[in-house]
Amino acid sequence: MSSTLLSDPFGRDINYLRLSVTDRCNLRCTYCMAEDMTFLPKQQILSLEELRDMATAFVNLGVRKIRLTGGEPLIRRDILKLVDALASLSGLDELTMTTNGVMLPSMAQPLKDAGMSRVNISIDSLKPERFKQLTRVGNLSEVVAGIHAAAAVGFDRVKLNAVILAGFNDDEVLDLARFAVDQGMDISFIEEMPLGEISSHQRVNTQVTSQHIREQLEAEFSLVDSTETTGGPSRYVQVANSASKIGFISPMSNNFCESCNRVRLTAEGRLLLCLGNEHSADLREIIRGYPGDIARLQAAILKAIESKPERHYFDPEQVDIVRFMNMTGG
Ligand code: SAM
Ligand code: SF4
Repeated sequence: MSSTLLSDPFGRDINYLRLSVTDRCNLRCTYCMAEDMTFLPKQQILSLEELRDMATAFVNLGVRKIRLTGGEPLIRRDILKLVDALASLSGLDELTMTTNGVMLPSMAQPLKDAGMSRVNISIDSLKPERFKQLTRVGNLSEVVAGIHAAAAVGFDRVKLNAVILAGFNDDEVLDLARFAVDQGMDISFIEEMPLGEISSHQRVNTQVTSQHIREQLEAEFSLVDSTETTGGPSRYVQVANSASKIGFISPMSNNFCESCNRVRLTAEGRLLLCLGNEHSADLREIIRGYPGDIARLQAAILKAIESKPERHYFDPEQVDIVRFMNMTGG
């Protein structure tokens, strides 16, 4: 029996929400953002109370896992208050976050204390110069310090995320995997998606398939297929004789939409039903029109789920989706 009331027309149960808390970021990754980004005015972003009410409505409907994301979630000033409020929602099994790690040296312990279960940290290169180039402004040593801080405070699990781009960092697949395995962490390799118009490169030239990444890894590691899945376009393998798992997130080369269990809420309160489609519902209008009316929000969410698309059709040669990943909430 399903424990969620959120079931879409294709029989998929939705129990996972990715909640974006800001579109802003302290980095400018080339594949994620244009160099000159215009961010949303503050009043368009959901307030702390609005975010809490949104999360409450989803959890009441059966969502069991929430991942906070952005933009960079740790630059939101009241993030710890939000984590504290969401961690105490009855019915929520897991509260996680995806972060670029820059602020983790000071934030890892307060996050853990506020009730965060796990964190994913993005790191696309272990070479300082290249890291700076990929993030435009980033300092690799800050992220590495953030990874160590996360390990030290004892989150359930620390997972690393790396987007692999041909000609930029596809020669670092083994180094990144070794880095994760040496620390007993998991790592996921992500295929770049054509979200938003960028100027740094032509996405069609930088595609690397998960299969290609796996072949590189198999030259050094023995990979054992795992049945673990988080729903959606990711598959995991266990690295033999280690504590680490490697994930392959393959939105481009593989279509695992039939097992999709998630929806996303943008920082301005737009419910995105699929990463690769524009279908969305404006929940901010409801929460601002009827503050605190959780039942009305729930009704709107139930209605929106009826139009969750069956699957995405990404094409790296075309920017079908005009929103950037920092708007979408990765
Ligand atoms: N700022 C945080 C971070 O970087 O981890 C959270 C938000 S970020 C949008 C979430 C994830 O999306 C990151 O792992 C990032 O590398 C990934 N991402 C961003 N743009 C992407 C794209 N066009 N295709 C695939 N992954 C992307
Ligand atoms: Fe910022 Fe994350 Fe996008 Fe990089 S991937 S620019 S860290 S939101």
